[in-house]
Amino acid sequence: MNKTEKIIDSFTKYVIPCYTRNPLVIVRGKGSRVWDSSGKEYLDFFPGWGVGSMGHCHPKIVKAVKKQVGKLIHIPNNYYNELQAELARLLVKYSFPGKCFFCNSGAEANESAIKLARKHGNQSGRYEIITCDNSFHGRTLATVTATGQEKYRQGFQPLVPGFKYVPFGDITALRQTVTSQTAAVLIEPIQGEGGIQTALREYFHQLRILCNEQKILLIFDEVQTGFGRTGKMFCYQHFDIKPDIITLAKALGGGLPIGAIIAASHISDVLTPGSHASTFGGSPLVCSAAISVIETIINNSLLVRAQKLGDFLQRRLLDLEEKFPRLIKEVRGIGLMWGLELYRPCAAVVEECMQKGLLLNCTHKKVIRIMPALTVTRSQLKQGLKILAGVLGKSA
Ligand code: PLP
Repeated sequence: MNKTEKIIDSFTKYVIPCYTRNPLVIVRGKGSRVWDSSGKEYLDFFPGWGVGSMGHCHPKIVKAVKKQVGKLIHIPNNYYNELQAELARLLVKYSFPGKCFFCNSGAEANESAIKLARKHGNQSGRYEIITCDNSFHGRTLATVTATGQEKYRQGFQPLVPGFKYVPFGDITALRQTVTSQTAAVLIEPIQGEGGIQTALREYFHQLRILCNEQKILLIFDEVQTGFGRTGKMFCYQHFDIKPDIITLAKALGGGLPIGAIIAASHISDVLTPGSHASTFGGSPLVCSAAISVIETIINNSLLVRAQKLGDFLQRRLLDLEEKFPRLIKEVRGIGLMWGLELYRPCAAVVEECMQKGLLLNCTHKKVIRIMPALTVTRSQLKQGLKILAGVLGKSA
């Protein structure tokens, strides 16, 4: 066995097989490039399932983490730490007045938001959470219940009670589903895992009005869309409305595990001492990385960059749609979050792209998901699109 085979063999023997893995052992990353154990180079247009928005090993993040790791890695939340304070300040600065809670992942951030909404609603007998069909909110029992896709729930029944589902983008259905027991609506501004599904700006306006009228909390799951992915710091900022809570993770830590919620001022003190906690949440090390991510986005104008490169990517993807009308059904997205829906399953296309040195994702069977780092260069985009066009051309 060579080294790569030995590593894969160890996974087979010792790692629980709950992931479908590609036969690649990735050993190094820099910006939008990674290298496997044989030295082969790949362009990574789906870094870390949305985690790698700054690109692999961004020098500013590496520097911040190196500085912090020798000073203080973890301190529990029964003490104060200055980096958590600074990160919370920055998150509130770039969103809306409120307070933050820190945890370690997207699912945990959604759990925290659900618990906050339940505790808030309990005062008036409200406990139901409405989410959308086709959504994705995580893999814990409550968040997999919140997730509006049957395939993720199979085998885990009984699920958590108190969740209802409505079609994404349909305000009438939502209005009909709300009752006096509805505590919150939990929604992704763009359904990522669900195949880059978008809804109209008007829908989000109506949603905000409905929640105000019915005194329901509006929770935006920005785990995938946050931190510049769509060309704004947070995706809700495209709609000129403010949610009551946003949930965050993925890109926030620049690769380190961190999740967070931001809760608006009128509900930010609902979670009182002892009612919720996370041992690792907001440790100095992960906060140093997250502060550096936000500073990098601002100091390097990465939001404008994501918009400009996004426009370029959109034009090129629409060109592909025009070139392969019988293969490509639709191009959807915004900023640097794009989906290319095919008329047929896309796994083979994505696999061939990988063999040719381009890493992409296939979601919802037929949607090629493209979410490059915000630091990707135009020439890297061109190079990747050339590989994709070649592979699509062969299968058209
Ligand atoms: N919410 C959304 C919108 C996501 O895309 C994901 C992960 O893909 C999650 C929540 C869950 O995040 P995590 O895997 O960090 O628990």
